[in-house]
Amino acid sequence: MRTASRDFTLRRARTLKDALAVLRDEPGTVPLAGCTDVYVALQFGSRPGERYLDLTPLKALRRISERDGRLVIGALATYTDVQRSRLVRSRLRMLVEASRLVGGIQIQNRGTVGGNLANASPAGDTLPVFAAAEADVVLQGPEGERRVPFTAFYTGYRASVRRPDELITAVEVPAVEGRQWFRKVGMRAAQAISKVVFAAVRSTPPRLSLGSVGPTVVRLPRTERALGSGAALDDAITELNDEISPIDDLRSTAEYRRQVAANLVREFWTRTA
Ligand SMILES: Cc1cc2nc3c(=O)[nH]c(=O)nc-3n(C[C@H](O)[C@H](O)[C@H](O)COP(=O)(O)OP(=O)(O)OC[C@H]3O[C@@H](n4cnc5c(N)ncnc54)[C@H](O)[C@@H]3O)c2cc1C
Repeated sequence: MRTASRDFTLRRARTLKDALAVLRDEPGTVPLAGCTDVYVALQFGSRPGERYLDLTPLKALRRISERDGRLVIGALATYTDVQRSRLVRSRLRMLVEASRLVGGIQIQNRGTVGGNLANASPAGDTLPVFAAAEADVVLQGPEGERRVPFTAFYTGYRASVRRPDELITAVEVPAVEGRQWFRKVGMRAAQAISKVVFAAVRSTPPRLSLGSVGPTVVRLPRTERALGSGAALDDAITELNDEISPIDDLRSTAEYRRQVAANLVREFWTRTA
């Protein structure tokens, strides 16, 4: 690891209360879950902080349960936990499909849903799923708990409404009616960051979300309205083109991403008809 470990301190949280007290009293402390994103930053020499707080002993945050008809996925649930959960398999199949395609087995064993949300990459594979499922992000801070609709959680590129003294404790998903759909397009089937990632629900009206086509994951309200009102698929794709803003980067080009996004929406709409 390029960052020498003597350069930072690592604490371990025993309770959620202790963890929140550390974040409140020691500003700049970086929470650690599976560490799969943070480790990459340390390895490449960009140090996210000098003080780190290991959340892994907070077992209650790893639980996946059902409350008042809503699926509650603890922030520390790993991708492997998600794939093994009967509740997720029966209620949010598209999250199981996304989890199977994150990294490889090792990353799925360590990487967490909360880490994916907090890392706030527009290419995060679970993000379009939670956008299309109209989930809420549950945050806990010194002043208590608050719920933020997923579509209001991100404020810009790698930026969210989460305050530095707050932890994501869970994501809550209402019952999803309608066929669920997930597709990821990357360089390979495993160990590949998405060039474009797509999740959708064939509800009335349909709900569609894309990642890696803008600074944050996006819902596609104009495309959804066009499809829901029975417009021709080509007209819906014209709307889609207006509401995404992909860029050229090391993983792909804007033009390719536009074409793939259109193909994914067409495939979803025709295959779920
Ligand atoms: C080889 C490799 C392949 C990968 N492939 C994929 C992929 O295919 N798809 C994909 O989406 N991602 C991929 N990733 C990225 C990463 O594995 C995921 O984003 C993962 O979900 C991060 O979770 P984590 O628990 O490891 O987060 P960590 O690295 O522990 O944390 C990530 C960020 O979130 C913050 N954080 C973590 N938990 C919380 C919390 N509960 N509350 C508040 N802040 C928190 C941390 O402070 C940090 O800023 C890959 C990474 C690697 C190294």
